[in-house]
Amino acid sequence: MAQSTSDPVRFGTVGSPQTTPRSGTLAAIEHMRDLGMDHLEIAWVHSVRVSDETCATIKTGGQKHAITLSIHAPYYINLNSQTAELMRKSDERLLLAARKGFLAGATDIVFHPGSYHNQSSDLVYERVKEKLLEIRGILDDEGVDVTLRPETMGKVAAFGTLDELLQLSRDIPGVLPCIDFAHLHARAGDGSMNSYDEFAAIFKAVKAALGNDGLHTLHAHMSGIAYGPRGEKHHLPLNEADLRYRDLLQALVDFDVHGSVAVEAPEPFHVADALTLQATYRRLRQQKAATSSDTAEKS
Ligand SMILES: [Zn+2]
Repeated sequence: MAQSTSDPVRFGTVGSPQTTPRSGTLAAIEHMRDLGMDHLEIAWVHSVRVSDETCATIKTGGQKHAITLSIHAPYYINLNSQTAELMRKSDERLLLAARKGFLAGATDIVFHPGSYHNQSSDLVYERVKEKLLEIRGILDDEGVDVTLRPETMGKVAAFGTLDELLQLSRDIPGVLPCIDFAHLHARAGDGSMNSYDEFAAIFKAVKAALGNDGLHTLHAHMSGIAYGPRGEKHHLPLNEADLRYRDLLQALVDFDVHGSVAVEAPEPFHVADALTLQATYRRLRQQKAATSSDTAEKS
């Protein structure tokens, strides 16, 4: 069995890749370990239908194989729902994902925060903040110790710019962003957010808003992506996409980021892209370590 690594950034996939030999989350955890990856984001993206017993099995499996876990909560969460009934259902989905995720040993609950519904960013921000404070309060009362991670969104109609999520993270303890780099690139719509300097600016913004803690507890999504003027169209394998992932990973290394990266790629590239990103990251770290010891010897 492959051993867990001491990499500051732990790589894995979002959901069980096609290559997982059996169905079920436990098999996906074992598969990540066999592949030498360190993280799994459990994709409860349609609904959360899992018993407490299954959660306990997942938790034990994660601990045994040293695979850290996050949850991708259902897509149908919208903190800016426009009717009381829709809002109630959205609340229930997020609460359930957090409660069951916590039982399963997950530390981070990722979700798509919501839609603007053509309202101003300021107005939606206040609504989302109020709702998230309420949800956070309920979870704290129950002792559900997870970080809530609204994700940066790829479509311009979706709430979830980096600035909005950094501000939410400052305003609400227990909330931190899930930074989806493909979404930030797609949302720009013009090919930007795809250079070393722009990736570095993202990490600088995280540090300015959240301090070094923000860089040391990062959770991110990475993948290739297709986009147009309105932002995200769909995910792509790295080798069909324009994402300059080498520059992105170099910035990750240079800013000494710690945390986890969950990779989303269309099959049959899911595992291949996750391993490519992990291997590239490791190589860049080794190169940096070699360069700095060179410099130390010469000085
Ligand atoms: Zn997502």
